[in-house]
Amino acid sequence: VTNTDIARDAILEDLRIRFQANDKTVKPLDPKTAHHWWNVGLQKNCYSGSGIMQCPICKVGKLRYSRNSYNGHVHAACSTKECVRWME
Ligand SMILES: [Zn+2]
Repeated sequence: VTNTDIARDAILEDLRIRFQANDKTVKPLDPKTAHHWWNVGLQKNCYSGSGIMQCPICKVGKLRYSRNSYNGHVHAACSTKECVRWME
């Protein structure tokens, strides 16, 4: 398990919590685009949106993220130099 895997899981959990807290900027899966979601592997959930959270890797940086509603791809970057940063 890589730091990117851990950070990605934390982002999906953050989106789930925000959706359940009635955050209208977080969207559930649109069934019309569902078939695009599986090319990044099995998904733990299908909520999409963007946000900023405390970084679960370095614990001090701010992790900015965005999850695409069309295909579930996650882009994220921590404010700490040399911490996690990726695009799918
Ligand atoms: Zn970090």
